[in-house]
Amino acid sequence: PPVTRFAPSPTGFLHIGGARTALFNWLYARAKGGTFLLRIEDTDKARSTPEATEAIFAGLKWLGLDWDGDAVSQASQAERHAEVAHELLEKGAAYKCFATQEEIAAFREEAKAAGRSTVFQSPWRDADPATMRNGPYVVRLKAPRDGETVVDDVVQGRVAWKNETLDDLILLRSDGTPTYMLAVVVDDHDMGVTHVIRGDDHLTNAARQVLIFDAMGWTRPAFAHIPLIHGPDGAKFSKRHGAPGVEGYRDMGYLPAAMRNYLARLSWSHGDEEFFTTEQAVEWFDLDAISKGAARFDFKKLENLSGQHIRAMDDAALADALCDFMAVQHEPLPDHATKVAIAAAMPALKERAKTLVDLVDMSYYLRAERPLTLDEKATSQLDEITRNMLVRLTERLRNVSWTHNDLEGEIKAFAGDEDLKLGKVMQPMRAALTGRTTSPSVFDVLVQLGRDESLARIEDQLA
Ligand code: GLU
Repeated sequence: PPVTRFAPSPTGFLHIGGARTALFNWLYARAKGGTFLLRIEDTDKARSTPEATEAIFAGLKWLGLDWDGDAVSQASQAERHAEVAHELLEKGAAYKCFATQEEIAAFREEAKAAGRSTVFQSPWRDADPATMRNGPYVVRLKAPRDGETVVDDVVQGRVAWKNETLDDLILLRSDGTPTYMLAVVVDDHDMGVTHVIRGDDHLTNAARQVLIFDAMGWTRPAFAHIPLIHGPDGAKFSKRHGAPGVEGYRDMGYLPAAMRNYLARLSWSHGDEEFFTTEQAVEWFDLDAISKGAARFDFKKLENLSGQHIRAMDDAALADALCDFMAVQHEPLPDHATKVAIAAAMPALKERAKTLVDLVDMSYYLRAERPLTLDEKATSQLDEITRNMLVRLTERLRNVSWTHNDLEGEIKAFAGDEDLKLGKVMQPMRAALTGRTTSPSVFDVLVQLGRDESLARIEDQLA
């Protein structure tokens, strides 16, 4: 069974592209009964704070992507990385290079002037150990000079690099610290990773990394480099297109299930299926259905899927999700009775909601205390004419039996007597009763609120 991993650099949040990479690794492991590991690439000391790592954990947890075992810290493995570099030295597959920055710059200038390749060729590659300096050195891989390095990528196909274009990459810096390239390979090997699924911005790194695998005699993992996510305009996805981190989508009220569905569809497909559950995605996922073309982020599509996932959710569970969301957004939480009322109203509420933010807004009337705070659109429904109309209407409603049917009959009759379209009566009523211009049917709202509360809410707006 495959072992996959997600290896984010902690930069302060879980990027939407990283979330999609994590999802593909998670789906593949879950689809094949494998293991999904998490490695925090925290070797950049300046940027890698505990908060940044926590933000990645929180983003993955919110998305429901559980990893197996404990997260591995790459920085904590530095000694092991250095050990491998020394092993390569002993095997003669790596060498100490004493060339200074000045010497390397001079080499390049000379090569350029002579019209030769500027790829650095270290004079220390085959130097006699007796001639070695005492000064600082880096450890370089003795990379092949002839032929090509080939990566058979699951997504990109066969990709080849002429070895003469690749220099002898550095494994250990002059201060003895391992480079990123070495660390990734050693960690992937030590963690038993069989499939490296990551953004295609790492494709050229793969050419360098396979050389280290080969030099150590380790089995290469399979590589699947997935196209990066682009914005609607085709440019690489960035802040300018929308929230770059997953917590932005959480705050906009998208359900994790909807995010998983949407992200799964970026560069992966299963026939024409657009809406699916995570269980279905796990059942269907495979690497051969990942496409090479860049996916464009489509906010309309995300919204649509989100609405569908909201409607697919069980009412009580959705009420729970709504309360959890309100807690995260620091909204005052409904008491038990109100929560029960929200769950009861859910079939009507969720009909038009695309996000949890919509549900918070649409359920306002069930949570609100008198006098209501009307939003701008609702306020504009109430002017002198509509207020006077509501005065006449409430007079008639006082004596009606408070059932859906009788209320509907009386309000329709009132609209007829006033020579008004029904909507002209209902919209100001809705504004006064709910403080909003979208809500479940006004008749349902009247019944839910009861006679006293309904009439009091309307009267609050007439004063
Ligand atoms: N740490 C790298 C990144 O965040 C990923 C490296 C890898 O997946 O091999 O882009």
